[in-house]
Amino acid sequence: MNSERSLRISSWQGDLPAVCHPHFLPQAKEILWPEKVEERAEIAVVGAGLSGLTAAYHLRDRETVVLEAGEIPGGVCQGGSYQGVKYPAGSAYFYYPWDESWQAWYRELGLPVDEALISGPVSALFHEGRWYPDCFTLDGLRTLPLPVAAREGLIKLAADLASWEERWEPLGSSVLSQPELDRISLAHYLEQYRGLPPEATLFLDSYCRSCLGAGPDAVSAWAGVFFLMSEFSPTSRTAAFPEGNTRLVEALLRALPRPPRPRQIVVRLEPKARGLHLLIWNDLEKRPYRLEAGTVVLAVGKFVARHLLPPESGWRLDDLARFRYSSYLVAALCGRITIKAPGYENWVMGEEAFSDFVISPRLPRSGGRVMTVFAPQPFPQGRDPLMRARPKDKARELLGAVERLFPGTIKEVEEVRLHRFGHAQVVPYPGFLTFLKGDFPKQQGRIILAHSDLEGVPCVEAAIVQGQQAARRVRETLGL
Ligand SMILES: Cc1cc2nc3c(=O)[nH]c(=O)nc-3n(C[C@H](O)[C@H](O)[C@H](O)COP(=O)(O)OP(=O)(O)OC[C@H]3O[C@@H](n4cnc5c(N)ncnc54)[C@H](O)[C@@H]3O)c2cc1C
Repeated sequence: MNSERSLRISSWQGDLPAVCHPHFLPQAKEILWPEKVEERAEIAVVGAGLSGLTAAYHLRDRETVVLEAGEIPGGVCQGGSYQGVKYPAGSAYFYYPWDESWQAWYRELGLPVDEALISGPVSALFHEGRWYPDCFTLDGLRTLPLPVAAREGLIKLAADLASWEERWEPLGSSVLSQPELDRISLAHYLEQYRGLPPEATLFLDSYCRSCLGAGPDAVSAWAGVFFLMSEFSPTSRTAAFPEGNTRLVEALLRALPRPPRPRQIVVRLEPKARGLHLLIWNDLEKRPYRLEAGTVVLAVGKFVARHLLPPESGWRLDDLARFRYSSYLVAALCGRITIKAPGYENWVMGEEAFSDFVISPRLPRSGGRVMTVFAPQPFPQGRDPLMRARPKDKARELLGAVERLFPGTIKEVEEVRLHRFGHAQVVPYPGFLTFLKGDFPKQQGRIILAHSDLEGVPCVEAAIVQGQQAARRVRETLGL
């Protein structure tokens, strides 16, 4: 390994538990409400992730304030730059369906989506020293190093999913197509219902952990099938900007009349006769203040919302506690990286420490390159160790795993930038989507929920759809 003197390791980036935890953990010191209202707004959006920014975008003609706990907007859609090379440091790609409404939305934001369409293999699998490009296409599936029954079963699954796509309910729908799939795990569906050998499940393990936060035995078959449908789809293609989905965030920010306010942590909500009061900790000035808003969009995970919502708001605490989250580490390995990997998204099979990586730019060049390594942590027990870990140790663990698989890479790494997401994404465990599409309310009075977790599956499209729906509810509520 590079000597520690020449290898730079960043401190934690990503979400900021040190800013938020003191207000929400059981031993938190109570923040008292200042007596007077300091500020008034027609609409307050809490959280400047993709869902909150989308809601604010669709409400940009109104007096809207966006409050963000972190230093920068974007939530898990973070990106970086190293020696002029842009790279994703969180959410990386999106699906570009040939659907007019999505295309219109991207066009409206001025996003050159056609430039983001990925050429060449989108996905490749690395197993026992060999690459298997296009591992999610029919041709690629035929080459996988799996028993014949596993390969044929996966090919049949891909064909079935492609034919289901037409009649599958879109995101944002209040019903589940094939609700029976949500009663069982993906592993159970593959092995018991479709009779695939366990090797097929193993092939999908890193994909599942990375995209859905937990392995095939822990996620709902509905959610697994929904994600795989996009991979196998004849009607959508994967698109990614060099810096990942932070580009979507930037497009939304450009369109907002006022930027989100950083380091403004919303700590409580209180319904009042005329609207709502928000207790906000201004972490820049280290003081609390009271804001009055006509309507509030809570675009935060329900792990936060349940601390903010008062008992009289109407949500049951038990319902909010049913949202579960995975945790995630993303490491940007920066340097003169020479590794050649055939896919945009490169999956490794059977590696505990990380699941996949992307390289920016894709082709080797003489200058700097960045290998972004995605390391979903074990669900549900991975969060605490991640919170306690030292950056140096996590960097060493990841570099060790990368070096084992791709010898020689370590000496090329000059800097490791570590992004940690404690409650990275909602985990669609079996039964969760049925609960969510049942009677879970997304609005009570003037408090409206947003966030991708309301869709039950973590993807940027879920965040966008939920942000759009929240904005529509605000307009109805305010009679706009
Ligand atoms: C590592 C990683 C990689 C991913 N890759 C992809 C991908 O390639 N493609 C894809 O489609 N999806 C991907 N996803 C999922 C997808 O990006 C997310 O589901 C989506 O971006 C989440 O947006 P959101 O607005 O729902 O939530 P978040 O991004 O979680 O935003 C919530 C915001 O609320 C703020 N906040 C929290 N508490 C408070 C408070 N009390 N006061 C004020 N603000 C607060 C947070 O700081 C945060 O900015 C990935 C997720 C992760 C973690």
